[in-house]
Amino acid sequence: GGDFNQKIDYVFKVVLIGDSAVGKSQLLARFSRNQFSLDSKATIGVEFQTKTLVIDNKTVKAQIWDTAGQERYRAVTSAYYRGAVGAMLVYNMTKRQSFDNMARWLEELRGHADKNIVVMLIGNKCDLGNLRAVPTEDAQEFAQRESLFFMETSALESTNVETSFLTILTEIYRIMC
Ligand code: GDP
Ligand code: MG
Repeated sequence: GGDFNQKIDYVFKVVLIGDSAVGKSQLLARFSRNQFSLDSKATIGVEFQTKTLVIDNKTVKAQIWDTAGQERYRAVTSAYYRGAVGAMLVYNMTKRQSFDNMARWLEELRGHADKNIVVMLIGNKCDLGNLRAVPTEDAQEFAQRESLFFMETSALESTNVETSFLTILTEIYRIMC
């Protein structure tokens, strides 16, 4: 799209991780193309999407990687993490297990990624508030303990999707540039 003839100052690789069906692919579809699908199969096979944005008068190309169905523990290969400067750890706030697994994903991430990687915890599907299984305070506490940024999002309703990506990308910029 708008990348043509544009001078890119920085490329930031950000990886999405978390259990299957938490909404990683739809968060990416919403951020990169402003699209959403209730059919999760719609995005299978997608490796990464890019979006170019301006931070502090610099043109930053965000290259966001999606696991495309490798969510089983230890199935995500080290190639996926290689070169990543940011990671979004996504759980489904209506599924407690997907939040409890965040510690595992974080351990996996820290075993593979650069130690300066910026990590953000994302509680997705906040449009389903009446089905909430993870109190905001539990996630805040975990994020604080592990020094993660934290935000609750809805890919369906677009809530905080742009904001969360902008937050992590701006923090990466602040650290790296
Ligand atoms: P992934 O396996 O983590 O990539 O999950 P998907 O992005 O494929 O989403 C799994 C399912 O949850 C799909 O049916 C999506 O439409 C749905 N979904 C994703 N994000 C949201 C959200 O914010 N709210 C609701 N209600 N459903 C969502
Ligand atoms: Mg997916």
